[in-house]
Amino acid sequence: MKVARFYAPGDIRIEEAPEPSAGPDELKLKVHNCSTCGTDLKIFRHGHHHIDPPRVIGHEIAGEVVEVGSNVDGWQAGDRVQVIAAIPCGECPDCKRGWMTICPNQRSMGYHYDGGFAEYMIVPHAVLKVDGVNRIPESLSYAEASVAEPFACVLNGQELARVGEGDTVVVVGAGPIGCLHVRLARARGAEAVYLVELSRQRLEMAAALVKPDAAICSADVDPIEEVLRLTDGRGVDVVITAAAAGKAQEDGLKMAARRGRISFFGGLPKDNPIIACDSNLVHYRELTIVGANGSSPDHNKRALELIASGAVPVDDLITHRMPLDGVLDAIHTVSTGEAIKVTIEP
Ligand SMILES: [Zn+2]
Ligand SMILES: [Zn+2]
Repeated sequence: MKVARFYAPGDIRIEEAPEPSAGPDELKLKVHNCSTCGTDLKIFRHGHHHIDPPRVIGHEIAGEVVEVGSNVDGWQAGDRVQVIAAIPCGECPDCKRGWMTICPNQRSMGYHYDGGFAEYMIVPHAVLKVDGVNRIPESLSYAEASVAEPFACVLNGQELARVGEGDTVVVVGAGPIGCLHVRLARARGAEAVYLVELSRQRLEMAAALVKPDAAICSADVDPIEEVLRLTDGRGVDVVITAAAAGKAQEDGLKMAARRGRISFFGGLPKDNPIIACDSNLVHYRELTIVGANGSSPDHNKRALELIASGAVPVDDLITHRMPLDGVLDAIHTVSTGEAIKVTIEP
């Protein structure tokens, strides 16, 4: 079979590999879709401290069960499934409290285990143990189901930031994650959602799809002034920064209304994670700053349901479909910002 393997920064190879077979506690999938994201680009450029190469990468996985280990119950050949990316241990104090997104023993598909940029792959016992395989509702395509994983992370972020009925929301960053945030905020009852993005081209493409109440290009206007103008000086209830920029986080603090919540959804570069924060803004305005680290198996299940119910459509966000041979093109396309979501169809 064909796989895309990461060897070193700048070195991902499409090569032949023996087809794997499922051990007694595992499933084997035929991968139908594995979507790409900014993380794949990061891995391609810099590697990752959790990846010990060579490794088949790809973590936004949807496929068909083709082999079921003898100890595995509940699945059979032909089942259409979506697979979690972040694998919590299920046993540590954080997992036991239900906080599976911050499990310190977390492992990941495409990092510790071979991932979905392959014709076939193994779902390890660690995934099955935490109920990390989800049946794809009949109405959804494999491509749509592959978006459930990044969307699950978005769902975690908005739950922590308590986005709800009547809120005004700013989303900073108009990539696939930003687009999903705009749609989910609406589905959760937000009254107005504003989208902020530096690249005019990217903003226009995203705004045409997810139709925010205002599309604010931060290359042209000061986004803080613009948000304050749109809200009669009040600021917004929730700011979500889906951009790896300290400036976005600093601006976010200044766009928040009293009692506002700021989600630092996107992480910052490891070598530059310090921002300036006026602590008195947080103090006097009773602001809440929250993080967000991936998603739990339960978030993945609910993400699939939200997509299937039509509450948050994702089909139109998948702008590019490429074969497995095209993984490098896909990563390049992600880097140029000309796509929303690029999916690989092995
Ligand atoms: Zn991803
Ligand atoms: Zn744990």
